[in-house]
Amino acid sequence: MIQVVLKRKISQRVANGHPWIFANEVEKIEGTAIGGEIGEVFTHDKKFVGKGYINPKSQILVRLLTRERKDNINDQFFQDRILQCWEYRKKLGYTENCRLVFGEADSLPQLIIDKFNDYFVIQTVALGIDVWKPAIVNSINKIFRPKGIYERNDVPVRELEGMQQQKGFLSDPFETKIIISENGLKFYVDVENGQKTGYFLDQQDNRKAIKNIVKGADVLGAFTYTGTFEIHAAHYGAKSVLGLDISENAVRQATENARLNNLQDIVQFKTANAFDVLKQWSKEEKKYDVVMLDPPAFTKSRETIQKAITGYKEINLRGMKLVKPGGFLVTSSCTNLVSPELFLQIIDMAAKDARRRIRQVVFQTQSPDHPVVPGIETTQYLKFLIIEVQ
Ligand code: SAH
Repeated sequence: MIQVVLKRKISQRVANGHPWIFANEVEKIEGTAIGGEIGEVFTHDKKFVGKGYINPKSQILVRLLTRERKDNINDQFFQDRILQCWEYRKKLGYTENCRLVFGEADSLPQLIIDKFNDYFVIQTVALGIDVWKPAIVNSINKIFRPKGIYERNDVPVRELEGMQQQKGFLSDPFETKIIISENGLKFYVDVENGQKTGYFLDQQDNRKAIKNIVKGADVLGAFTYTGTFEIHAAHYGAKSVLGLDISENAVRQATENARLNNLQDIVQFKTANAFDVLKQWSKEEKKYDVVMLDPPAFTKSRETIQKAITGYKEINLRGMKLVKPGGFLVTSSCTNLVSPELFLQIIDMAAKDARRRIRQVVFQTQSPDHPVVPGIETTQYLKFLIIEVQ
């Protein structure tokens, strides 16, 4: 097996349990490193660090799968891991839908598996995990006897790993627009053409968190995607709900979801650029009891972090202006590089500029099927905040 020897001063990050080893942290490689192979990692004085998969084409040379020397990385290893992931989710109360595998947080770097009842959507974003796709599919078949498995590897980061983007069935073909239930509501999930894996499971609990504040309210939701927050609002007793998204396809899906739950008289969806509309309507002094914002990630790189901060400040400032005194702003950020502290600071700046006093009602992260691991920053990405706007 290939042996990777780290530099004398091992990075604190690796020592603290982070599974990534960057090429510039490596002193030498013994053997020929072939992309996708399993290698053993040692400190400069030959202490065992872990086993992981290698990709010399990637800046991240090794991603560790285990810190246990006795673990053999084979088909059984993946089956055991996936079963552990399922046991953990069951313990937390998940039965139907959940993120079954959340990559690094489940010690299966760059593997995502979303479970939508009897259907599974998988992403293998690094070469070293992609080579185990047959083993992963077999494990899902053995553990769950699913009705279908779909691959959503149409993600550009795969190209950094020297792989192609691709999507398609990993089981017999099935009708890819499936229906799931969440919090007593039904939603279509388009696993083939929807965004990411088709549905944002990370907001499951946050959607429940709006229950009390939307009763009898006029609600505006921007960045609605398939309308999940808006349909929850209608279900929880809002008087009227309007959801906006720039994507016509999302608006079509959201409208179908409203009909699926027989809430089409309360909730409507429109295609619009939220940046323009929030600006225009706040100038016109339109008012809502509750405004909800859930934009896509504004940046993935540190170089453009300032752009993300400006974007968050802008939409939250406009959003606050649209809230009646004593109403609520429900606001999310999924930009991993914006820390919870920074997000709160941005909201505070926006409130000052909007000349509104605010009180924090709820501040939480993604649902527990996406566990946060201290020291692995990418696992802490979602910020979900409800504030009262006075
Ligand atoms: N709240 C949703 C997820 C939202 S994802 C849920 O819980 O399921 C972010 C959405 O913002 C995407 O659907 C994307 O189409 C939309 N979007 C991106 N830029 C936008 C813009 N400028 N105006 C309106 N919507 C936008």
